[in-house]
Amino acid sequence: MNAYEARKTRLVAALREGGGAVRLGKSTSNLFRARQQPAGTRLDVRDFCNVLGVDPVAQTVEVEGMTPYETLTDACLAEGTMPLVVPQLKSITIGGAVSGVGIESSSFRYGLPHESALALEILLGSGEIVTATPENEHKDLFFGIANSYGTLGYVLKLTAKTRPVKPFVALRHRRFGDIDTYFAALGDACRGDADFVDGTVFSGEELYITEGRFVDEAPYTSDYTWLRIYFRSIRERTEDYLSVRDYIWRWDTDWFWCSKNLYVQNRPLRFVLGRKRLNSITYQKVMRWNTRVGLTAALNRWRGRRTESVIQDVDIPLENSADFLRFFLATIPIRPVWICPIGGHDPSRRFPLYPLGGDGFFVNFGFWDVMPSAANLAPGHFNRLIEDKVRELGGVKSLYSDSYYDEQTFWKLYDGEEYFRLKRKYDPNGRLRDLYEKCVRRG
Ligand SMILES: Cc1cc2nc3c(=O)[nH]c(=O)nc-3n(C[C@H](O)[C@H](O)[C@H](O)COP(=O)(O)OP(=O)(O)OC[C@H]3O[C@@H](n4cnc5c(N)ncnc54)[C@H](O)[C@@H]3O)c2cc1C
Repeated sequence: MNAYEARKTRLVAALREGGGAVRLGKSTSNLFRARQQPAGTRLDVRDFCNVLGVDPVAQTVEVEGMTPYETLTDACLAEGTMPLVVPQLKSITIGGAVSGVGIESSSFRYGLPHESALALEILLGSGEIVTATPENEHKDLFFGIANSYGTLGYVLKLTAKTRPVKPFVALRHRRFGDIDTYFAALGDACRGDADFVDGTVFSGEELYITEGRFVDEAPYTSDYTWLRIYFRSIRERTEDYLSVRDYIWRWDTDWFWCSKNLYVQNRPLRFVLGRKRLNSITYQKVMRWNTRVGLTAALNRWRGRRTESVIQDVDIPLENSADFLRFFLATIPIRPVWICPIGGHDPSRRFPLYPLGGDGFFVNFGFWDVMPSAANLAPGHFNRLIEDKVRELGGVKSLYSDSYYDEQTFWKLYDGEEYFRLKRKYDPNGRLRDLYEKCVRRG
């Protein structure tokens, strides 16, 4: 029995011997909703973190489900290849990105991480393990797993597509001063020949599109892994060059720009902290500690300040994106906003729980901060406004953070009919809990 098979046998035994609801035991997480952990069985999956094989000829990789993208990407880069879509934070695991939802600047061409999976080995709540592919008898589970957040099964192993890389990425940052022109240009960029496209909005008059192209040689390379900060460079220069590895992790060093909440955008402090501590894994640990001990909450109570956490990624059809941005800029005082186009969908492959329908482009808007609120506003007031607007504009919201939908609306948006059919088939005893309970009630 090889090491992977031995680990699987141990996991199945732990699941079958343990009682009650099941949850994953991992050392990192990128989930941003506070959770009540259910009593029951905590499955220790920390050792499902190995890259089993990279095939640069077939352009595929075989990898265990809890492998962080940093490990996976390093193994692929060593073979001159990379996963089609690598989410920006090093600790996101491939199983988490496929079962939750991930995205990056190659998504305009390759869609979301679940769209580049070829086969999934999934542990069900019963302890049975099934292989799901787009063609076999478990194809319904293959397509249903995206956005199921571990409520239909746990992805233990995947085969996924990769693509060849070149050593460097040449960046071009273009500035726009008008929202309509910006989204028209974003559509053009998606139809062009760039390898990567994303954007950063500082205000309604200062919007950037960044295009990246693989190149064999670079006149210089910039370093944003220590004293210099990538998001600032977008405003300061029109072109730049990064090694392919530094490009992939350009957002990780400062958690996009959210490192400001930990005061580490201060140069002397960066100098003291050093490269190794400046990353999303450190920030997650500090934020979790803060939530646990309630430091910021206590300070806010003491100052008489009410706040609301607005940490969301929403996907809006390109044609409605200007409307969404206008609404956002007028309603939510969070800046910058990250912009990432999504395309490349195969219309014959439908992922029912995350329905980015049609063959046009969507645009992801990412905004992550805590904003001031007022005593007369209901809890989740601003998040609810966003949810309503997303729905009105035909968009879809990621579920890694807070959600406030009522149950009926939620199941309409995330295909409750298909979800409960899958649930009856693959988790009839309900050991893996239910998506609404997990993502909205935070059970
Ligand atoms: C501030 C912030 C920024 C983000 N930015 C990005 C971004 O830029 N790009 C991006 O792509 N994504 C982003 N995300 C979302 C992130 O990709 C998803 O939350 C993803 O699910 C996290 O994966 P993880 O491996 O860290 O899983 P965890 O956080 O550990 O778990 C997330 C959920 O997925 C389930 N799960 C985890 N592993 C598996 C598995 N192997 N099989 C089945 N279910 C599993 C867990 O039960 C849990 O419900 C962001 C999230 C936050 C909080």
